[in-house]
Order: sequence, then structure tokens, then C-alpha cells
Amino acid sequence: MKFRGKPNTVIIDRKARRQIGRYAENGVFETTDPYYINKFKAARVPIVTEEAIIPPTDPKPETAKSFYCKTYKLPFDSQGDFLKHTRTAEHKAKKEEKK
Ligand SMILES: [Zn+2]
Repeated sequence: MKFRGKPNTVIIDRKARRQIGRYAENGVFETTDPYYINKFKAARVPIVTEEAIIPPTDPKPETAKSFYCKTYKLPFDSQGDFLKHTRTAEHKAKKEEKK
């Protein structure tokens, strides 16, 4: 069964203190474990139906993920774009704020 959550979020079993898995980039986590299916349902985690999954229109290469601004939580397609962003006043100001 598939459940929807915040993309790229790790799912923790607090009781067992272990990682169950992670919501994928499209926010979907799939499990076949009846124990967790029941837990997710009990926690009213939204169930994903096949129709609801929107395939990415423009699949990006794996390398795209390596350019990511942690400060703004923004992914970048290329190193060039990312570096350009890190040089902006906005990014610098926010980064200072966080210190
Ligand atoms: Zn930034």
C-alpha cells in the first residue's frame, strides 16, 4: 500500500526506534508490511491511489539532486545555477540569519 507524506522525509518507528523508510521525491512511500499499513491507517496518513501519482514531466538526472541549497531548501538543476544562487544577497542574508 502506498501512503503520501512530505517528500524526502524519513519515516521513523518511534516505538521500535528504527527507520522504516522514506517518502520518495514524489511524496510516496510504499509498504507491504501489514503492521505498518495498520499503523499508517490509524495515523490517518493519506493513502495514494495509482491515479493520484503524477509522473514527473521532466525526469531529471540523478546529479540534479547534488545541487541543493539547505538554507532555502531549494534544488538546482546545475552547479552553475546553484553557485549563482549562493552568491545572491538573499541567500547570504538568510545564511547570516541562521548563524
Ligand atoms: Zn540559498
